[in-house]
Amino acid sequence: MTGAVSELGFETRQVHAGSIVDAEAGARVTPIYQSAGYVFDSFDDGVERFAGRSARRAYSRNDNPTNVVAARRIADLEGGVDGVLVASGQAAIAMALSALAQAGDHILTTDRLYEGTREMIRGALRRNGLEFEAVPIDADEDAWVAAVRPQTRAIYAESIANPLGEVADLALLGRVSARTGVPLVVDNTVATPYLCRPIEHGAAIVIHSTSKWLGGHGSSIGGAIVDGGRFDWTAAAARFPHLHEPRPHGAPSFAERFGDAALGAYLRSVVVLEHGPTVPPTSAFLLLHGIETLSLRMERHVANAVAVAAALREHPAVARVHYPGVGDGQADKVARLLPDGAGSIVSIELAGGRDAARTFLDSLRLVSQMTHIGDVRTLAIHTGSTIHGKLRGEERTALGITEGLVRLSIGIELVDDIVADLRQALDVVPSRVLEVVRA
Ligand SMILES: *Cc1c(COP(=O)(O)O)cnc(C)c1O
Repeated sequence: MTGAVSELGFETRQVHAGSIVDAEAGARVTPIYQSAGYVFDSFDDGVERFAGRSARRAYSRNDNPTNVVAARRIADLEGGVDGVLVASGQAAIAMALSALAQAGDHILTTDRLYEGTREMIRGALRRNGLEFEAVPIDADEDAWVAAVRPQTRAIYAESIANPLGEVADLALLGRVSARTGVPLVVDNTVATPYLCRPIEHGAAIVIHSTSKWLGGHGSSIGGAIVDGGRFDWTAAAARFPHLHEPRPHGAPSFAERFGDAALGAYLRSVVVLEHGPTVPPTSAFLLLHGIETLSLRMERHVANAVAVAAALREHPAVARVHYPGVGDGQADKVARLLPDGAGSIVSIELAGGRDAARTFLDSLRLVSQMTHIGDVRTLAIHTGSTIHGKLRGEERTALGITEGLVRLSIGIELVDDIVADLRQALDVVPSRVLEVVRA
């Protein structure tokens, strides 16, 4: 299935990879298999399925056919060997990290991460005994290597960080992973596999919130974890003993049985089965429809974002525009890692601070004021009072979340209409000159 089409182009694989034609009706579109379980042929067949010796499925918690097609398609687009679909991006992060680390273990992250991830790190994952340490996103290779400890189980980064668009140097982190034997885990939600494929740069695991651009239509929540199949789990056996222990029913260890694909298999058949963050197959069906047009949407998302960023830079109410690679010292990294575009999040800092942001957001007509990104519609949010609202003022400042910061997720509408709406809302906002007078 996956292997058969992987020599084809991205645009072809986003439509075909992993697809199945059901034997009964021959439906061309992957059906919604809305079934909790699957009938055993016999007593012995049930035993075989539970022992993992049969290729046939037992239960939808971790093995729903619709979900499997979507997982395989995402894995194919990322250049990975295995994938698993879960209930949300948050669940994908939680499952991936619990497949790698346990209480007492240590995880390195960049200091620029989606706030939901930071919240989970500060909250549930710390309570579960995992230790985290943030390294500056622009630290050099030796600084990263020096931060690795014997207990370090993962290096975690976002290819394009949400919301300010700091780009992680995945090639550098890939070299750190190779030097230290610690797997690199990359949240590739904002870039999507169309713009960036972290496995090519040395990532072992790729994570997605499929709720965003992969689904693309803002209709459902989901997450995915992809095993790159290039990490040597046997060489790293001391860090990951759970992949090397013999399994029940006399089965060999995951490393013996699945080799470089051991972690994906462990995730699917142990971690996700045990925790149960199952995504409804209806969501996977909608996700598959989104993925089929990913390249087309991303081209338009990127073109619109670049045009919006340029237009807003000219507006007197805007003090700063954040778009990766433009005026932020990241041009070299963007050219190397994101040659086809740096995504469609454009964050703007209004000179008039929080009051200006309120006026601006309440004046929007076409653009929706809401929390979400990666929708075909253009969306806007004042992150400082919502997503980053629980942080202390100095924490927000350290992360670059200023009082006037508004995150825009640029959609695929006609760009002139997007710019016109943003402009008319900005025109109501006191300009920079007025702000200076008021201050
Ligand atoms: C939204 C998001 C998540 C969390 O995904 P959900 O599907 O909302 O749980 C994780 N990482 C990034 C970068 C995100 O933007």
